[in-house]
Amino acid sequence: MIKLQNLTVSYRHHPALHHISGQFVSGSLTAVMGANGSGKSTLLKSIAGLLAIDGGHTSGALTVNTQRMAYLPQLSEIDRGFPIDVRDCVLFGLWHSTGAFGRVSDTLVKRVDAALHAVGLQGFEGRALGTLSAGQLQRVMFARLMVQDAELILLDEPFNAVDAKTTASLLTLVQQWHLEGRTVIAVLHDDAQVRQYFPQTLLLARERVGWGLTAEVLTEANLQRARDMAEAWDESAQVCEIDADLSQQNVTAHAAHLPHSAH
Ligand code: ADP
Ligand code: MG
Repeated sequence: MIKLQNLTVSYRHHPALHHISGQFVSGSLTAVMGANGSGKSTLLKSIAGLLAIDGGHTSGALTVNTQRMAYLPQLSEIDRGFPIDVRDCVLFGLWHSTGAFGRVSDTLVKRVDAALHAVGLQGFEGRALGTLSAGQLQRVMFARLMVQDAELILLDEPFNAVDAKTTASLLTLVQQWHLEGRTVIAVLHDDAQVRQYFPQTLLLARERVGWGLTAEVLTEANLQRARDMAEAWDESAQVCEIDADLSQQNVTAHAAHLPHSAH
């Protein structure tokens, strides 16, 4: 369903993802793990087709073979000040069925309210988004994912700032999506949770450290290697010269203050 061939994604020539190859099979449930700055959000944004907004530059190939995808950004990227109530926020996920100025049918409103009920937010339909706790906001976002009915669901740190009870109920939804045959890719941090609920794992440290069965990827050796690679990062040292269509002058200018090349 999603194929990465030597994918490199750079921001101003600094690769956030470096020569990654592999694939997410249709119907798979995969955790993406790695330290802060290891390229996890960049990967999800690449798949969601949102890199241009961030000014990212891509080389290699990324094939995303799906019509319907849903994307949950990191909580920190969601604008909670947006003056909208809970029901409209979930309805917003359906704009492709309603059209930007389309009429909202009773059927759609019923679907939205059923999703809010399923995430335990009945009675919250008219609440302003800005008045919700982090856990409640994340429930709203999951209700929105439910009504989107996507084949591919991308979740960036879906359980951050969310209490244990909410996490457990949202994890149940993820399991249900998996049973329904949807492809789910989730950025996560909790080893134990990943081992228990996510059959596949991609471990990143800008490069691919491991990708496959969770038990085979989350070995102590791989985790240590990912930590070592993260610690070795020097923000200014990572210029990918294959990727960048730099003028020779720029390459020299970068190389001059680099202790070593990224390759
Ligand atoms: P993660 O989600 O694993 O924490 P990210 O994919 O957000 O990592 O970021 C990977 C690297 O790319 C980091 O070094 C980050 O600072 C950098 N980066 C991310 N987004 C941008 C951007 N819009 N502009 C410049 N650099 C960015
Ligand atoms: Mg991130």
